[in-house]
Amino acid sequence: MFTKSPYQIMRTYNTLLLDDCMFENPSRSTYTKWLARFYKEFNKAKRKYRDWDNDYINVDDVIDYDFCEIFTTRYFTYYEWARFENKLHNFQYKLTRYNEILDNRDIRLFYRFMECFLDRINDEKTELFELNSCDNCGINMADEYTVSAYGGDQIICEDCRDSDYYYHERSEQYVHNEDCDYSEYDDIEDFNEQYSHVKDGYTLDDIREETVVIEIPKTDRFITGVF
Ligand SMILES: [Zn+2]
Repeated sequence: MFTKSPYQIMRTYNTLLLDDCMFENPSRSTYTKWLARFYKEFNKAKRKYRDWDNDYINVDDVIDYDFCEIFTTRYFTYYEWARFENKLHNFQYKLTRYNEILDNRDIRLFYRFMECFLDRINDEKTELFELNSCDNCGINMADEYTVSAYGGDQIICEDCRDSDYYYHERSEQYVHNEDCDYSEYDDIEDFNEQYSHVKDGYTLDDIREETVVIEIPKTDRFITGVF
């Protein structure tokens, strides 16, 4: 996939990255501009640190908070960035698989530069995108994807809302499925309404009559249950 000339390698890197982003928002031109600017900053840093040690970059000097802000929030929403960041990690990984390529100083420096950038972003992400973390599972999410539970005492993500929480009508808030302080029938009237057929003279025999037998295919076993 890569050839050995550093110029060719970076061209391939760009092309693959852009092809990967072709059908996504924001437009391809945003990614192109991002890459062009990123290379420009990389080249500036390379000139500034002529004696750049291959294993060490004074990250704080070059890749500071402002740098991170320019290359994230100015181009992307949090979710667009998260997707793009993932691709950058993938391409970094691909570079490491071509060990002989990393023998080339330019490529190695670029790799280090990108790696430092991604590390720093990781530290600043919450602040950069003003993220909340889900009180239930801990993942980060942007404001528009938060759900309020327990009248605002908890902020949860949509996945947790769908899997671990339910809307408790009576108190008009999301509560945890396993929260014993809340129940879907926490009122005797609710309960009676739900089981009114039992109240209206249903007996155990009636229920037994409704018992059906289900045949499970491919085995000779039968299971009985009340339905
Ligand atoms: Zn969650």
